Formats: sequence, structure tokens, C-alpha cells
Amino acid sequence: MTAVIDLLNEQRLELGPPPQRDRWRHWTLARDGDDVAWLVFDREGASVNAIDEAVLDELDAVLAELDHDRPAAVVIRSGKVSGFCVGADVSLFQGVDDPGQVAQRLSGAHEVLDRLEKLTVPTLAIIHGPCLGGGLELALACRHRIAVAGATFGFPEVLLGLHPGLGGTFRATQLIDPIEAMTLMLTGKTLDARRARAIGLVDAVTEERHVAAAVRNRDSLRPPAATWKHKVFASEKARGLAARKMVSQTAGRVSRDHYPAPFELIDLWRDHGGDRAAMQQGEIVSFARLVTSATGQNLLRVFTLREKLKGQGDKPAAARTTAGRRSATAIRHVHVVGAGTMGGDIAAWCALNDCRVTLADQQPEALAKAVARAAELADRKRLGGAARRALLDRLIPDLEGTGAGHADLVIEAVPEKIAVKASVYQELGRHMKAGALLATNTSSIPLEILVTATNMPGHFLGLHFFNPVAQMQLVEVVTHEDLPDRQIQQVLAFVRGIQRLPVVVRSAPGFLVNRVLTPYLLEAMLLLDEGLAAETIDQAARDFGMPVGPVELADQVGLDVCIAVADMLADRLEGSLPAVPDWIRRKVEAGDTGRKAGKGLYSWKDGKADKNAKAPPPGGGLEDRLILPLVNTCVTCLREKVVEDEDLLDGAVIFGTGFAPFRGGPLRYARQRGIDEVVVALRHLAGEHGPRFKPDAGWWQLEQP
Ligand code: NAD
Repeated sequence: MTAVIDLLNEQRLELGPPPQRDRWRHWTLARDGDDVAWLVFDREGASVNAIDEAVLDELDAVLAELDHDRPAAVVIRSGKVSGFCVGADVSLFQGVDDPGQVAQRLSGAHEVLDRLEKLTVPTLAIIHGPCLGGGLELALACRHRIAVAGATFGFPEVLLGLHPGLGGTFRATQLIDPIEAMTLMLTGKTLDARRARAIGLVDAVTEERHVAAAVRNRDSLRPPAATWKHKVFASEKARGLAARKMVSQTAGRVSRDHYPAPFELIDLWRDHGGDRAAMQQGEIVSFARLVTSATGQNLLRVFTLREKLKGQGDKPAAARTTAGRRSATAIRHVHVVGAGTMGGDIAAWCALNDCRVTLADQQPEALAKAVARAAELADRKRLGGAARRALLDRLIPDLEGTGAGHADLVIEAVPEKIAVKASVYQELGRHMKAGALLATNTSSIPLEILVTATNMPGHFLGLHFFNPVAQMQLVEVVTHEDLPDRQIQQVLAFVRGIQRLPVVVRSAPGFLVNRVLTPYLLEAMLLLDEGLAAETIDQAARDFGMPVGPVELADQVGLDVCIAVADMLADRLEGSLPAVPDWIRRKVEAGDTGRKAGKGLYSWKDGKADKNAKAPPPGGGLEDRLILPLVNTCVTCLREKVVEDEDLLDGAVIFGTGFAPFRGGPLRYARQRGIDEVVVALRHLAGEHGPRFKPDAGWWQLEQP
């Protein structure tokens, strides 16, 4: 509420009657001296505005009042510092399974926005910060939109397996170039205020201090006039042609079977684009169908899994206090030892996310290459001159390793050899400041072994980043018995602060991600050994929904790395994994290690696997043979408590391996398919191919949903 008052004060409003705070929980209303009604959206008990039924019910009541006692204009703006509105509250849709009921609720919500749109006085949305999804749909129901510099706009629904459902499909395509509107909705991309102005999504962009003047000058605002494109696309034939192109572009990215939402949106516009009422009805029906589908529900689950992973650093030792200041335990200075593939990229990523970073290596060339890669990262992130310079200033090459004495966190990323790591720890132990944390990026050495080489067991842990660091969102936070919770919380907050998703895993062979991925990759190698084409195997995995097939993935990771991890797991897990075929080992010995060598299980050209388009299509239970070993191993990890619960496991496997997001995670997949059926399928595979498929004992310990 304070935020509302501050905002109103900032506008120096003549408030007239006091804002009506008692009657509404999520809105306040005040009229200024010019009889403009300022309607401030400030959702109770939340730091960001999201739309739910209570918010809309109240808005309906406010609109009824404004309709009765008409002001000169209505201004809608947010009372939250965080921005205008991030969209609908997704919890509204979790667990819904009746499309008819959803459609009925949506129709009610549409009536409220229709009422706003039909107000006979000018309506203006003043937008600061994010204005996304349902928030943008609310703004689109106003006659004018004024963006405060820094505002962002977008329809992210497609990323949740949905399309806009609160009038966005017809209001956006009517307001601006329909192709621009469709692109916005089909890609889920976010626009800045300048771009939103350029395409006509907002009427003006201004600074906060000029908002009141912009409202006074509202008569000068000119919403975009209908363009020739609106005339052209009023024709069904023209929409049909454009829709065909959109379908083929979308099909290049995702399959309709796995992600129907963008295709349904295209159908909706193609069939009804010329007819607002039909499009509105179609939007409601299609949204209700999507949100109640297994895909829609699973993608909503992925959204909440991400929130759950992010929420892990929320305990009191988190790096920021509730007042937004950094606490005494915050990690500001990171020292990275080893500037190779991983260390160099971890250092750059931390510097990108505002940490001061010192980067040490024995080889000056490794440091030079790491700094060059950091500059490439800045370019990829489109950082302008000052931001790019600031990133590179924060990343300090440190040949002498003196940064270790000042760092709050030291990340070790030297080669995967116990002796090398142990000698690094001994040196660090002499220089690190008291209370600082030491993390290893090891992918396979048990922490119980490494911890004996340090003199700080209570401050030593694993921080397992994945390659490529800038793309892989997950970071495993590897714990061991001597690590206090306070340190874990501190690191979780750090990982979250550098925009990665942490998952706490117990020190166990391969931790979580490599442990579950290895049986899947090895099964693909056995299938190759049986004579199946790499393309056929990869297609089976992609048909299941994996972004990349296992053969291609093994080449991308590096066959040498895959074999090293498989050997380590085979050593520690006593015979439950199949052996790597000899001919693949020989390939690695000959230097054919995959993409980095230009040759592995595929030949690689310009970073792309050279595939035979005529390979036979997959069939004969290939999907199960690949996927079920992975799912079975997930159950083993749960039983062994490598990870705390099913949600964290599903989230980690999705964000760490790319496991088909629309399936909601490996455990969710097993539950939707039916645990009994999965166990029967595993037994069948064990009978045909051997005990590696034996169902884990954990299947019988899974909790009832
Ligand atoms: P790398 O060989 O690319 O880099 C290691 C760097 O450490 C080299 O630049 C080397 O000069 C430097 N170094 C060696 N000894 C040193 C010392 N005593 N002091 C300072 N620097 C020293 O290795 P990498 O692939 O980056 O792997 C590093 C760690 O990350 C390993 O533990 C590995 O298991 C793990 N990891 C690797 C990957 C991957 O895909 N490469 C993924 C996850 C984790």
C-alpha cells in the first residue's frame, strides 16, 4: 500500500476524495483535480501484480461505479515498484481438467475486459516494468497505452503451452500489424518500450516524471490507424497463405503433437481473424482445451518446478535481506582456479551477473582465451559499450592467484585428477580468508575423497555447473555430511543470484544429472553396436520429446567425457551399467571424440552433425529402450535420497538434461503413463536385453500422488 501512496504522491495528484482502499483489496481509486480517475492495481499480499478472479471481480465492481459516475478519463496503473503486471496467476489453472468449466470462467473474465473497453470515457494504461500476458491483455482493453521508459511487453503464454486467453489474440491482431502480433504471441519474446512503440503496441513512451503531463495531453494520443495489412488479412485467403508460412516456421522449432498451442493459435487466426466475435469465442474454447490438456498441465508444472528450484535460497542466510540489501554472508567476490572450458566460462558468467571475479590458471594463454570468451559472451548478450566494459572490468585475470585471499567463494575447476585438485586445495588453504567457501566443479570425484584434502570440511562443497555454462540453467549444489545448512543456504542464494537454478544433491556417484543421463547414453551406444543407424536412434528420442538425440548429445558432450563418466559410474555402481562398446573406445583413442574433433559417432560440419536423411524410421519399442533406463535411474536416485523429492528431481532432470518439458519430468511421465505399466515394460526389457532394465526397488516406495 505504501507503494501506491508513493506513486500517487509522485504524480502530485490532487487526490480529491481519499483513495477507496477499504472497499477493494487489490485496487484503489482516486480522482484528481481534473476529474481523472486513477485506478491503481496493487494486488494484496504480493510483490508483483498477477491477475486472478478476485482481481477481475473487483475490477468489474470499480468499472460499474465509474460507468455510473463518469470521470473525464480513467488511468490504470500499477502500485507495485516491480512493474505493471506479470500476467495471470498460473495457480488458477493448476489441476483444472474440465474445459467446459474453464471456458465458463474465462467468459466471465472476458466480460470484465469488454466492459473496460466499452467505457465511453478515454481509458489509459500507464505501464512501467514488465507488462506480460494477462497484464498486456488488460492494457490492450484500454484505449491508450503509455509506456514509462524501461517497460517491457510480451505474451509468454506459448512457453507454458498456452496462447493468450484474455482477449489478447483478437485485440493484438486488431491493433497492430497482425503478422507482428502473431509473431509476438508465437515466439513469447519480450519487447522493450521503444520497439513496442514502433509497432504500435503503445501510443507513447515517456519518463516517470512526465506521466501526469502525458495524461493531461491525452487528446494528442493517436492509436495506430488500421493499415493495409489489416485490409489484406481481412481476407480468409490471405490469412490462409500467411498461416501456412507460420505453420512451417513453427514446425521447424516444435512438433504439433508435443506443443499444440502455437499451431492452435495459428488455426484460430486463420479461421476467424476477420471476425472479432468468432475469434473471441474461439480463443476461449481453444485456451480452455489447451490448459486442461496433459501438455498444458505439464508445462505449468515446469513453471512451478522452476519457481521451486529458484525458491531454494529463500531461507534466512540468503544473500539479500528482505530490505534488498546484501547481508553480511553475501558472496561478492568469486575466485576461480582453472581457466579452461569450465572455469573460464563460470568466471565470465559470474562477472556477467555482477560478481567481482578473479580468475587464476597456470597458463597465461588459458587466461587470455577465457577473457576473449567473456567478450564473446558480452556480444552474445548484446551488452552495449559501458556494460560490456564493466563486465570485462569485473573479470580480473590473476596469474599469481592472489584473489584467493579476498574471495568469499573460491570455485576450483582444474582437471579431473584427485592429486591435482588436492594440491590446489592445500595452496588455497594457506590463503583463503576465514569463513570463505571452497567449491569444486568436479563431475565425478566423490566429495568424501576431496574433502579429506582440505582443511575446511565445513566450508567445502560441490558446485557442479554444466557445459556450456551460459546455456545450461541447472547447477548441482553437492553436499556432504560435514557441511552445515547455513553454508548450503548461502550457496543456494549465490546460484540464484547469478541467474541459475540450483538443486541440492547428496554426494553420490555422478550426483543426479550424470547418473541418470549415463544409462540413456550407454543404451544408445549399445543400439549402435547392434547395427541401428545413429539417425534412427536419435529420431526415437526426439519423437519422445528430447531436444537432441542421445547419439548427437554424446558427440556434443565429447565421447571422451562420456566414457570417463561411464567408467567412473561402472566402478562405483558395481556392474549395473552396460560396458561401452570397444569400437567406441577405439574411436576416442584415435582422437574422434565428437563435435570438438569434427568427428565422433557423427561427422560434424560447421558445428552440425552430418545426418543421413534416408535412415530408417524408429519403431519396435525403441523409445522405451532409451527412456526407461533414465526413468528407472531417477527412481533409484529418489530411493537413495540423492535428491530430496520428486519435484526437485523432475525439475533438475528437465533443466539439467533437457528431458521433454511437455512431459513434466521423468517421474511425472511415469505417473501419467501408469507406474504399473512402466514396471511391466521394464521387466519385459530385462527379459529381452538383460538385468540392466530390472525395475528399481524404489518403484514400490513411491508415494501415492
Ligand atoms: P580443462 O582441462 O579445460 O581446464 C582445466 C584448466 O585448469 C586448464 O586451463 C589448466 O591450465 C588449469 N590448471 C591445471 N592445473 C592447475 C593448477 N594447479 N592451478 C591453476 N590452474 C590449473 O578442464 P575442464 O573441462 O574445464 O574441467 C574442469 C573441471 O570441471 C573438472 O573437474 C571437470 O570434471 C569438471 N567439469 C567439466 C565439464 C566439461 O564438460 N568439460 C562439465 C562439468 C564439469
